[in-house]
Amino acid sequence: MIIPLSSPSITDLERRYVADAINSGWISAAGEYVTRFEQMLAGRIGRKHAIAMTNGTVALEAALLALGIGAGDEVIVPALTFVAPAAAVRSVGALPVFAEVYGNTWNISAGDVARMITPRTKAVIAVDVMGHSCNYKALQSVVGNIPIIEDAAEAHGAKYQGAYAGSFGVVSTLSFHANKSISTGEGGALLTDDDDIAQQVRLLMNHGMTRERPYWHDVVGHNWRMTNLTAAIGCAQLERWDELIAARQQVADWYDDALGYLFRETQLWRRPLAADCDEACWLYTLHHQDRGRILNALHTVGIDARAIWPALCDLPLYVESCRQDCVSARHISNGAFWLPTSATMTQSDVEQVAEVLCAAFV
Ligand SMILES: *Cc1c(COP(=O)(O)O)cnc(C)c1O
Repeated sequence: MIIPLSSPSITDLERRYVADAINSGWISAAGEYVTRFEQMLAGRIGRKHAIAMTNGTVALEAALLALGIGAGDEVIVPALTFVAPAAAVRSVGALPVFAEVYGNTWNISAGDVARMITPRTKAVIAVDVMGHSCNYKALQSVVGNIPIIEDAAEAHGAKYQGAYAGSFGVVSTLSFHANKSISTGEGGALLTDDDDIAQQVRLLMNHGMTRERPYWHDVVGHNWRMTNLTAAIGCAQLERWDELIAARQQVADWYDDALGYLFRETQLWRRPLAADCDEACWLYTLHHQDRGRILNALHTVGIDARAIWPALCDLPLYVESCRQDCVSARHISNGAFWLPTSATMTQSDVEQVAEVLCAAFV
Protein backbone atom coordinates (compact mmCIF):
# COMPACT_ATOMS: atom_id res chain seq x y z
CA MET A 1 0.00 0.00 0.00
CA ILE A 2 1.40 3.38 -0.99
CA ILE A 3 -0.57 6.43 0.05
CA PRO A 4 1.32 9.72 -0.47
CA LEU A 5 0.94 12.64 1.93
CA SER A 6 -0.61 14.69 -0.83
CA SER A 7 -1.12 14.43 -4.55
CA PRO A 8 -2.44 17.04 -6.97
CA SER A 9 -5.74 16.67 -8.80
CA ILE A 10 -5.03 17.25 -12.50
CA THR A 11 -7.81 16.71 -15.07
CA ASP A 12 -8.34 17.14 -18.79
CA LEU A 13 -9.24 20.78 -18.15
CA GLU A 14 -5.70 21.55 -16.89
CA ARG A 15 -4.23 19.53 -19.82
CA ARG A 16 -6.37 21.39 -22.35
CA TYR A 17 -5.44 24.86 -21.04
CA VAL A 18 -1.71 24.02 -20.89
CA ALA A 19 -1.82 22.66 -24.46
CA ASP A 20 -3.59 25.82 -25.53
CA ALA A 21 -0.93 27.99 -23.85
CA ILE A 22 1.84 26.01 -25.57
CA ASN A 23 0.11 26.21 -28.94
CA SER A 24 -0.35 29.96 -28.56
CA GLY A 25 3.44 30.40 -28.40
CA TRP A 26 3.12 32.53 -25.24
CA ILE A 27 5.03 30.40 -22.78
CA SER A 28 6.68 32.97 -20.50
CA ALA A 29 4.85 35.57 -18.43
CA ALA A 30 3.20 37.62 -21.18
CA GLY A 31 0.09 35.61 -21.91
CA GLU A 32 -3.64 35.65 -21.54
CA TYR A 33 -3.82 32.95 -18.88
CA VAL A 34 -1.81 35.07 -16.43
CA THR A 35 -4.27 37.95 -16.68
CA ARG A 36 -7.24 35.61 -16.50
CA PHE A 37 -5.78 33.82 -13.46
CA GLU A 38 -5.27 37.14 -11.67
CA GLN A 39 -8.81 38.33 -12.44
CA MET A 40 -10.40 35.06 -11.35
CA LEU A 41 -8.38 35.00 -8.13
CA ALA A 42 -9.17 38.62 -7.22
CA GLY A 43 -12.85 37.90 -7.86
CA ARG A 44 -12.88 34.71 -5.79
CA ILE A 45 -11.18 36.19 -2.72
CA GLY A 46 -12.79 39.61 -3.09
CA ARG A 47 -9.72 41.82 -3.51
CA LYS A 48 -8.97 44.70 -5.86
CA HIS A 49 -5.59 43.33 -6.98
CA ALA A 50 -4.28 39.79 -7.38
CA ILE A 51 -0.73 39.47 -8.71
CA ALA A 52 0.50 36.07 -9.92
CA MET A 53 4.06 35.24 -8.88
CA THR A 54 6.55 32.37 -9.04
CA ASN A 55 5.82 31.08 -5.53
CA GLY A 56 4.37 31.97 -2.16
CA THR A 57 7.72 32.76 -0.57
CA VAL A 58 8.63 35.55 -2.98
CA ALA A 59 5.09 36.91 -2.60
CA LEU A 60 5.94 37.38 1.09
CA GLU A 61 9.25 39.03 0.20
CA ALA A 62 7.46 41.33 -2.23
CA ALA A 63 4.91 42.23 0.46
CA LEU A 64 7.69 43.15 2.89
CA LEU A 65 9.62 45.18 0.30
CA ALA A 66 6.49 47.00 -0.86
CA LEU A 67 5.84 48.01 2.76
CA GLY A 68 9.38 49.42 2.90
CA ILE A 69 10.67 46.85 5.40
CA GLY A 70 14.40 46.16 5.57
CA ALA A 71 17.52 46.28 7.76
CA GLY A 72 16.90 47.37 11.35
CA ASP A 73 13.19 46.50 11.24
CA GLU A 74 11.37 43.75 13.11
CA VAL A 75 8.46 41.67 11.87
CA ILE A 76 6.41 39.48 14.22
CA VAL A 77 5.94 35.93 12.94
CA PRO A 78 4.18 32.97 14.63
CA ALA A 79 6.48 30.40 16.24
CA LEU A 80 4.44 27.60 14.64
CA THR A 81 4.46 27.70 10.84
CA PHE A 82 6.30 26.47 7.79
CA VAL A 83 9.54 28.45 7.75
CA ALA A 84 8.80 30.67 4.70
CA PRO A 85 7.49 33.76 6.56
CA ALA A 86 10.55 33.86 8.84
CA ALA A 87 12.92 33.27 5.90
CA ALA A 88 11.24 36.02 3.86
CA VAL A 89 11.77 38.50 6.70
CA ARG A 90 15.45 37.55 6.88
CA SER A 91 15.77 37.76 3.09
CA VAL A 92 14.87 41.44 3.12
CA GLY A 93 17.39 42.06 5.92
CA ALA A 94 14.90 42.44 8.78
CA LEU A 95 14.56 40.39 11.97
CA PRO A 96 11.66 37.99 12.54
CA VAL A 97 10.44 38.01 16.17
CA PHE A 98 8.44 34.97 17.22
CA ALA A 99 5.06 35.19 18.89
CA GLU A 100 3.31 32.32 20.64
CA VAL A 101 0.29 30.54 19.23
CA TYR A 102 -3.04 29.86 20.92
CA GLY A 103 -3.31 26.31 22.22
CA ASN A 104 -6.95 26.18 21.12
CA THR A 105 -6.51 27.26 17.46
CA TRP A 106 -2.75 26.90 16.81
CA ASN A 107 -2.74 30.40 15.27
CA ILE A 108 -0.72 33.43 16.32
CA SER A 109 -1.82 34.82 19.69
CA ALA A 110 -2.94 38.47 19.62
CA GLY A 111 -2.01 38.87 23.28
CA ASP A 112 1.50 37.66 22.57
CA VAL A 113 1.80 39.88 19.48
CA ALA A 114 1.00 42.84 21.77
CA ARG A 115 3.83 41.76 24.09
CA MET A 116 6.34 41.43 21.23
CA ILE A 117 5.71 44.86 19.66
CA THR A 118 8.65 47.27 19.93
CA PRO A 119 9.35 50.65 18.27
CA ARG A 120 11.09 48.66 15.50
CA THR A 121 8.08 46.48 14.66
CA LYS A 122 7.04 47.24 11.08
CA ALA A 123 4.59 44.40 10.34
CA VAL A 124 2.97 41.26 11.69
CA ILE A 125 2.77 38.18 9.48
CA ALA A 126 -0.37 36.26 10.44
CA VAL A 127 -0.31 32.73 9.06
CA ASP A 128 -3.66 30.99 8.53
CA VAL A 129 -1.97 27.82 9.62
CA MET A 130 -3.18 24.49 8.17
CA GLY A 131 -6.40 25.82 6.70
CA HIS A 132 -7.60 27.80 9.71
CA SER A 133 -7.82 31.61 9.77
CA CYS A 134 -6.31 33.73 12.53
CA ASN A 135 -8.45 35.76 14.90
CA TYR A 136 -8.22 39.00 12.88
CA LYS A 137 -10.54 40.95 15.17
CA ALA A 138 -8.23 40.32 18.12
CA LEU A 139 -5.13 41.00 16.02
CA GLN A 140 -6.51 44.29 14.65
CA SER A 141 -7.26 45.43 18.17
CA VAL A 142 -3.60 45.09 19.24
CA VAL A 143 -1.58 46.16 16.17
CA GLY A 144 -2.74 49.80 15.84
CA ASN A 145 -1.16 51.17 12.65
CA ILE A 146 1.23 48.25 12.18
CA PRO A 147 0.22 46.46 8.96
CA ILE A 148 -0.84 42.83 9.00
CA ILE A 149 0.51 40.62 6.22
CA GLU A 150 -1.70 37.56 5.91
CA ASP A 151 0.02 34.37 4.77
CA ALA A 152 -2.89 32.29 3.50
CA ALA A 153 -0.67 29.74 1.71
CA GLU A 154 -2.37 26.81 3.45
CA ALA A 155 -5.86 28.24 3.64
CA HIS A 156 -7.49 28.38 0.19
CA GLY A 157 -11.22 28.24 0.86
CA ALA A 158 -11.01 28.84 4.63
CA LYS A 159 -13.25 31.59 6.01
CA TYR A 160 -13.17 33.87 9.04
CA GLN A 161 -16.49 35.47 9.96
CA GLY A 162 -17.79 34.64 6.50
CA ALA A 163 -14.93 36.10 4.39
CA TYR A 164 -12.23 34.15 2.57
CA ALA A 165 -8.70 33.75 3.88
CA GLY A 166 -6.64 36.08 1.72
CA SER A 167 -8.94 39.04 2.35
CA PHE A 168 -7.61 40.08 5.78
CA GLY A 169 -4.09 41.47 5.36
CA VAL A 170 -3.12 44.90 4.07
CA VAL A 171 -1.30 42.45 1.85
CA SER A 172 -2.19 38.74 1.72
CA THR A 173 -0.25 35.98 0.02
CA LEU A 174 -1.06 32.54 -1.36
CA SER A 175 1.00 29.56 -2.50
CA PHE A 176 0.08 27.12 -5.25
CA HIS A 177 2.78 24.55 -4.49
CA ALA A 178 1.87 20.97 -5.41
CA ASN A 179 0.82 20.08 -1.87
CA LYS A 180 -1.49 23.09 -1.43
CA SER A 181 -5.27 22.79 -1.90
CA ILE A 182 -5.19 24.73 -5.18
CA SER A 183 -2.01 24.00 -7.08
CA THR A 184 -0.08 25.08 -10.13
CA GLY A 185 3.01 22.98 -9.36
CA GLU A 186 5.01 25.97 -8.16
CA GLY A 187 3.25 29.30 -7.90
CA GLY A 188 2.09 32.08 -5.65
CA ALA A 189 0.07 35.26 -5.55
CA LEU A 190 -0.08 38.56 -3.73
CA LEU A 191 -3.45 40.14 -2.94
CA THR A 192 -4.15 43.72 -1.88
CA ASP A 193 -6.71 46.51 -2.20
CA ASP A 194 -3.98 49.19 -2.13
CA ASP A 195 -3.14 50.60 -5.59
CA ASP A 196 0.31 51.88 -4.53
CA ILE A 197 1.36 48.54 -3.06
CA ALA A 198 0.15 46.71 -6.18
CA GLN A 199 2.07 49.08 -8.43
CA GLN A 200 5.22 48.75 -6.34
CA VAL A 201 5.01 44.94 -6.39
CA ARG A 202 4.54 44.86 -10.17
CA LEU A 203 7.63 47.05 -10.49
CA LEU A 204 9.77 44.96 -8.11
CA MET A 205 8.80 41.61 -9.63
CA ASN A 206 9.55 42.72 -13.18
CA HIS A 207 13.21 43.82 -12.95
CA GLY A 208 12.19 47.24 -11.62
CA MET A 209 11.13 48.17 -15.14
CA THR A 210 8.15 50.31 -16.16
CA ARG A 211 6.28 50.11 -19.44
CA GLU A 212 6.80 53.85 -19.89
CA ARG A 213 10.58 53.61 -19.88
CA PRO A 214 11.90 50.16 -20.93
CA TYR A 215 15.40 49.20 -19.74
CA TRP A 216 15.62 52.13 -17.35
CA HIS A 217 15.78 50.98 -13.70
CA ASP A 218 15.17 53.20 -10.68
CA VAL A 219 15.05 50.29 -8.24
CA VAL A 220 16.82 46.93 -7.97
CA GLY A 221 14.21 44.49 -9.22
CA HIS A 222 13.63 40.77 -9.38
CA ASN A 223 12.07 38.34 -11.79
CA TRP A 224 9.17 36.84 -9.84
CA ARG A 225 6.70 36.41 -12.72
CA MET A 226 4.44 33.40 -13.11
CA THR A 227 4.58 31.81 -16.58
CA ASN A 228 1.58 31.51 -18.86
CA LEU A 229 1.92 27.69 -18.69
CA THR A 230 1.67 27.77 -14.91
CA ALA A 231 -1.24 30.21 -15.04
CA ALA A 232 -3.02 27.90 -17.51
CA ILE A 233 -3.00 25.16 -14.86
CA GLY A 234 -4.07 27.80 -12.35
CA CYS A 235 -7.10 28.90 -14.39
CA ALA A 236 -8.32 25.30 -14.53
CA GLN A 237 -7.76 24.88 -10.78
CA LEU A 238 -9.62 28.12 -10.01
CA GLU A 239 -12.56 26.97 -12.14
CA ARG A 240 -12.55 23.80 -10.02
CA TRP A 241 -12.13 25.70 -6.71
CA ASP A 242 -15.40 24.57 -5.10
CA GLU A 243 -14.88 20.96 -6.16
CA LEU A 244 -11.25 20.84 -4.93
CA ILE A 245 -11.99 22.45 -1.55
CA ALA A 246 -15.06 20.25 -0.99
CA ALA A 247 -13.15 17.07 -1.89
CA ARG A 248 -10.52 17.77 0.79
CA GLN A 249 -13.20 18.59 3.32
CA GLN A 250 -14.89 15.29 2.47
CA VAL A 251 -11.62 13.49 3.25
CA ALA A 252 -11.51 15.29 6.62
CA ASP A 253 -15.11 14.28 7.35
CA TRP A 254 -14.33 10.63 6.53
CA TYR A 255 -11.33 10.75 8.88
CA ASP A 256 -13.48 12.33 11.61
CA ASP A 257 -16.02 9.50 11.27
CA ALA A 258 -13.42 6.74 11.19
CA LEU A 259 -11.40 8.11 14.13
CA GLY A 260 -14.26 9.17 16.41
CA TYR A 261 -13.69 6.16 18.66
CA LEU A 262 -10.01 7.04 19.20
CA PHE A 263 -10.90 10.67 20.00
CA ARG A 264 -13.26 9.45 22.73
CA GLU A 265 -11.14 6.65 24.16
CA THR A 266 -7.48 7.73 23.77
CA GLN A 267 -5.25 10.79 24.09
CA LEU A 268 -5.43 11.32 20.32
CA TRP A 269 -6.98 14.67 19.36
CA ARG A 270 -7.68 16.54 16.22
CA ARG A 271 -6.38 20.04 15.52
CA PRO A 272 -8.87 22.34 17.32
CA LEU A 273 -11.12 24.76 15.43
CA ALA A 274 -12.56 28.14 16.44
CA ALA A 275 -16.31 28.77 16.24
CA ASP A 276 -16.10 31.84 13.97
CA CYS A 277 -13.83 30.05 11.45
CA ASP A 278 -14.81 27.74 8.64
CA GLU A 279 -11.83 25.50 8.29
CA ALA A 280 -10.83 24.37 4.80
CA CYS A 281 -8.86 21.27 5.59
CA TRP A 282 -5.40 21.44 4.00
CA LEU A 283 -3.73 18.41 5.59
CA TYR A 284 -5.70 16.48 8.19
CA THR A 285 -3.82 17.05 11.44
CA LEU A 286 -3.78 15.06 14.67
CA HIS A 287 -1.88 15.30 17.95
CA HIS A 288 -0.63 12.60 20.29
CA GLN A 289 2.26 12.69 22.74
CA ASP A 290 3.51 9.32 21.50
CA ARG A 291 3.57 10.37 17.86
CA GLY A 292 6.69 8.40 16.89
CA ARG A 293 5.07 5.02 17.46
CA ILE A 294 2.00 5.96 15.42
CA LEU A 295 4.06 7.31 12.53
CA ASN A 296 6.16 4.13 12.50
CA ALA A 297 3.06 1.97 12.22
CA LEU A 298 1.84 4.04 9.27
CA HIS A 299 5.23 4.15 7.52
CA THR A 300 5.64 0.38 7.81
CA VAL A 301 2.68 -0.14 5.47
CA GLY A 302 3.59 2.67 3.06
CA ILE A 303 1.40 5.46 4.37
CA ASP A 304 3.20 8.79 4.18
CA ALA A 305 2.05 10.46 7.39
CA ARG A 306 4.44 13.12 8.68
CA ALA A 307 5.40 14.99 11.83
CA ILE A 308 4.70 18.71 11.44
CA TRP A 309 7.44 21.38 11.45
CA PRO A 310 9.59 22.01 14.51
CA ALA A 311 8.60 25.17 16.36
CA LEU A 312 10.69 27.91 14.72
CA CYS A 313 12.07 28.93 18.12
CA ASP A 314 13.89 25.57 18.19
CA LEU A 315 15.80 26.18 14.93
CA PRO A 316 19.33 27.38 15.82
CA LEU A 317 19.28 29.59 12.73
CA TYR A 318 16.57 31.71 14.34
CA VAL A 319 17.92 31.91 17.89
CA GLU A 320 18.03 35.72 17.69
CA SER A 321 14.32 35.77 16.93
CA CYS A 322 13.34 34.17 20.25
CA ARG A 323 12.61 36.62 23.02
CA GLN A 324 10.73 34.04 25.04
CA ASP A 325 10.28 30.31 25.37
CA CYS A 326 7.41 29.38 23.02
CA VAL A 327 5.98 26.57 25.13
CA SER A 328 2.64 26.27 23.36
CA ALA A 329 4.18 26.17 19.86
CA ARG A 330 6.68 23.53 21.00
CA HIS A 331 4.03 21.38 22.67
CA ILE A 332 1.94 21.32 19.50
CA SER A 333 4.98 20.78 17.29
CA ASN A 334 6.19 17.83 19.36
CA GLY A 335 2.95 15.87 19.05
CA ALA A 336 1.23 16.96 15.84
CA PHE A 337 1.29 14.98 12.61
CA TRP A 338 -0.40 14.97 9.23
CA LEU A 339 -2.32 12.16 7.63
CA PRO A 340 -2.45 11.82 3.82
CA THR A 341 -4.94 14.35 2.46
CA SER A 342 -5.74 14.96 -1.22
CA ALA A 343 -8.76 15.77 -3.34
CA THR A 344 -8.07 12.50 -5.18
CA MET A 345 -8.40 10.23 -2.11
CA THR A 346 -11.31 7.80 -1.90
CA GLN A 347 -13.25 6.76 1.19
CA SER A 348 -11.51 3.39 0.99
CA ASP A 349 -8.07 5.10 1.06
CA VAL A 350 -9.13 7.03 4.16
CA GLU A 351 -10.49 3.91 5.84
CA GLN A 352 -7.24 2.03 5.18
CA VAL A 353 -5.24 4.79 6.87
CA ALA A 354 -7.69 4.92 9.78
CA GLU A 355 -7.51 1.15 10.21
CA VAL A 356 -3.72 1.20 10.57
CA LEU A 357 -4.00 4.10 12.97
CA CYS A 358 -6.59 2.28 15.12
CA ALA A 359 -4.41 -0.87 15.15
CA ALA A 360 -1.51 1.20 16.51
CA PHE A 361 -3.58 1.77 19.67
CA VAL A 362 -4.28 -1.87 20.57
C1 LIG B 1 3.77 26.61 1.39
C2 LIG B 1 3.90 27.80 2.25
C3 LIG B 1 4.53 29.00 1.84
C4 LIG B 1 5.29 29.22 0.59
O1 LIG B 1 5.09 28.50 -0.43
P1 LIG B 1 5.97 28.28 -1.72
O2 LIG B 1 4.99 28.55 -2.81
O3 LIG B 1 6.38 26.87 -1.64
O4 LIG B 1 7.09 29.25 -1.73
C5 LIG B 1 4.50 30.10 2.68
N1 LIG B 1 3.93 30.03 3.87
C6 LIG B 1 3.32 28.93 4.32
C7 LIG B 1 2.68 28.95 5.66
C8 LIG B 1 3.31 27.77 3.53
O5 LIG B 1 2.74 26.66 4.00
